[in-house]
Amino acid sequence: MAKGAGIVERSLVSDDQIMEFDNLVMDGIDISGRWNTMLKSRVHGERDWQAWDEVRQNLVGTSIDNCIQCGLCTAGCTVGHEVPEFNPRQFIYWVKIGRTEELKKNADVVWRCVGCYNCTHHCPKGVNTAEVIEVIGQWLRKTVPNRMDPAYHANHRSYRHRLQTGGRLSLPVLQAEFLRELGRQRELMGPEFKKVAIKMLRDGRAIKTLMIGRPRHWSKNRKVLSEMEG
Ligand code: SF4
Ligand code: SF4
Repeated sequence: MAKGAGIVERSLVSDDQIMEFDNLVMDGIDISGRWNTMLKSRVHGERDWQAWDEVRQNLVGTSIDNCIQCGLCTAGCTVGHEVPEFNPRQFIYWVKIGRTEELKKNADVVWRCVGCYNCTHHCPKGVNTAEVIEVIGQWLRKTVPNRMDPAYHANHRSYRHRLQTGGRLSLPVLQAEFLRELGRQRELMGPEFKKVAIKMLRDGRAIKTLMIGRPRHWSKNRKVLSEMEG
């Protein structure tokens, strides 16, 4: 059996934290086998409340104080199913106990949230988990920009640029801008994109995408966006 195979959320425990013995007898009781798996004790003396302060300050209409660490957000998370290290419950836990170093180490994972809001719908305590993960990602972007994948920055720039210039987001345009930001515009000529483009031309979505208008009171909204960026 693989080391620590019985541990729940095994991906969060490094090999050197696990102790297993072929034969283990404690107080006269043989606990060899599955029950002999133990974790080394962990003592955390250093706590850093930067992330806690920032996250609580920037959340709108939700709080992480209500989180009971039930893990339902993780169980229903779209990205978590594909990327075991992506664990919203764990990210909130690290914020709540002041372990910002762990968050920083995982900066390259946190940003992968796709904003589907499955976690928010699963939460029994009314935490808007998707918003929490977004705010944690923003904090990491400011705090450890070098640890974020270049795709994160490209994604952020293309979102910001689209919002500032058009006021609305259209996925095909956003995707094109994202690839251009990464210097991968050649991929737009690949077979997958061609297939999607032809489909969109046929069903009329391409025209709708190009004709998309600006929001009402655009000049005022644009001013607010510029001030926020400022
Ligand atoms: S589902 Fe809600 S209460 Fe449960 S761990 Fe996630 S955020 Fe916390
Ligand atoms: S919004 Fe992000 S954290 Fe929530 S379920 Fe979707 S991918 Fe997971």
